[in-house]
Amino acid sequence: MRSVQSKKKPEYDVIVVGSGASGGWASKRLAEAGLKVALLEAGKPQSDASFTEHKPEFELKFRDRTREIFRKTRPIQSRLACTEYNAEWFVNDFEEPYTTPKDQPFLWMGRLRVTGGRTNVWGRVSLRFSDLDFKAASRDGYGEDWPLNYKDVEPYYDLVEKYVGITGMREGLEHLPDGQFQPPMPLTCQETLFRDRVKEKLGRTATLARSANLTRPQNGRGPCHYCGPCERGCLTHSYFNSAFTTVPDALRTGNCTLISNAMVHRVLTDDDANRVTGVLYVDRNTRQTRELYSRAVVLCAQTQESTRILLNSKTSRYANGLANSSGMLGHYLTAHVRSGGGRGELPSFGEKPTMGGPAKPVGIYVARFRNLPGQAQAKGFLRAYGYEGESSVEFSWQAPGFGEAYKKALREPRSSLDLTGFGEVLPRWENRVEIDPETKDVYGIPVLRIYMADGENERAMIKDMGDSAGEMLEAAGAKNIETHANPSAPRWALHEAGTARMGKDAKKSVLNQFQQSHDIKNLFVMDASGFTSNPCQNPTLTIMTLSVRSCDYLMGEMKRGEI
Ligand SMILES: Cc1cc2nc3c(=O)[nH]c(=O)nc-3n(C[C@H](O)[C@H](O)[C@H](O)COP(=O)(O)OP(=O)(O)OC[C@H]3O[C@@H](n4cnc5c(N)ncnc54)[C@H](O)[C@@H]3O)c2cc1C
Ligand code: SF4
Repeated sequence: MRSVQSKKKPEYDVIVVGSGASGGWASKRLAEAGLKVALLEAGKPQSDASFTEHKPEFELKFRDRTREIFRKTRPIQSRLACTEYNAEWFVNDFEEPYTTPKDQPFLWMGRLRVTGGRTNVWGRVSLRFSDLDFKAASRDGYGEDWPLNYKDVEPYYDLVEKYVGITGMREGLEHLPDGQFQPPMPLTCQETLFRDRVKEKLGRTATLARSANLTRPQNGRGPCHYCGPCERGCLTHSYFNSAFTTVPDALRTGNCTLISNAMVHRVLTDDDANRVTGVLYVDRNTRQTRELYSRAVVLCAQTQESTRILLNSKTSRYANGLANSSGMLGHYLTAHVRSGGGRGELPSFGEKPTMGGPAKPVGIYVARFRNLPGQAQAKGFLRAYGYEGESSVEFSWQAPGFGEAYKKALREPRSSLDLTGFGEVLPRWENRVEIDPETKDVYGIPVLRIYMADGENERAMIKDMGDSAGEMLEAAGAKNIETHANPSAPRWALHEAGTARMGKDAKKSVLNQFQQSHDIKNLFVMDASGFTSNPCQNPTLTIMTLSVRSCDYLMGEMKRGEI
């Protein structure tokens, strides 16, 4: 094994790897406090010039009918959010592959290679975790508690939400804490009907999906004007994307240098001093390698990618991956299951279908209602799920007939509401990533092998997602209800977490509560790798919140001379 050692003088205080949700915040927080930061991003720079949210399909070369072309470059990425409009922001699946066992296919979608990472295309649903999540293991006996509690993170949730700009309604639920919301976008008539009836008949809360879309101007960003396709960018900067918020703030300080197209291969170390000293990266354009030195390294490359860097950084002292004396690195990969839900028809309340919008970019969210304190244990599964929902009023495309009669029938509105469950997956040792010794990407960096499959808990939860969706649609008076509850195979997800989990016990975890390596004090991993579990609420608000909190700790340690 070749161990990369280095004792060169640091050029920067901190190297941050990855400019997405976590890296954007880390570089902003550190640079605004006066630290010299190098922000290394594998992707190219992002700019307003590549935003196409107002561009019609007929102006595209292939009219966005590009499935065959994607087969040659992005067969995995093109399954979600990646279209002809924004394909260049995503990895080429053949240039940057990963492997899986034959019987455990895993679709690793949403791999971005542009400043801002996944926040360019994310769905923006922004929900707080609560102590029901952080202390779930103490309640139901499965897994480990997080090494922190809600009070520790509450002020940071406030700080992040005020800056990000989140539209939401206050509901007073302890298990889905309210936040610092901008005024709520209105619910549609169908969403209001659903909300009222589900509360009245089942006591469940369907609220506006708390979402990172502005309804008031903020920091030079305009309020949302309901054009719809946020995943193509936003010229008014009305949704939250690190590329036009946190990263430019960091650069404006003059303390942060963004190095684009910098694919980090490994972390450099001084094994004798038990410290990291910088990183080795490959320039994606020239394929040249370069070393960069710093007092501390913060990995923010996204769950699997950060762990890949650590696994590729093994030394003689850490033969199984850097900072892996616990042997936990790579294990406990989690990602939401979302293959249960339903749909039903609701009245259109006189609304007419239209091809031209406006298109509200935010739907509803049904808060968790299983395994709450004081409730009986749900049949067959621990933990819980929530639903994202959306209503639509569409043309009756399937109407029968011809000519005038068809034209008339076509205009009859078909109004429906869709629900998709997002469920917690239990952290299990066998769901993991490791380095595939046989396969490298085009930059010569060994790639990941991903092992991920559902267990009994997830299967029972998915079934309940389908059943409960039907129950709620029925309570709302919906007609022609259809539900689904499929096994989630091939396994896929966008909310990956774990593989370098936080914990109090250094023998059972990789990071402490400030996402600092137990083994190496000047090494931090501030994305969702550190999540001890993966509650059903979407993760990104908590990713950003924890990265700010951990940066404050890092700076305190630097001041105290501990780093
Ligand atoms: C379609 C879609 C919808 C989503 N919807 C939601 C939602 O509604 N709510 C929610 O909470 N979450 C949602 N997510 C998930 C959310 O986007 C992620 O949780 C979040 O962006 C993760 O932040 P991160 O900082 O860990 O990684 P990212 O935001 O992905 O940023 C990682 C960055 O690191 C860079 N990088 C990777 N490897 C290297 C390397 N070796 N060297 C240098 N740089 C590297 C990447 O290029 C990337 O820019 C969604 C994701 C997708 C794809
Ligand atoms: S819907 Fe709103 S946030 Fe999304 S792209 Fe349009 S203006 Fe921007």
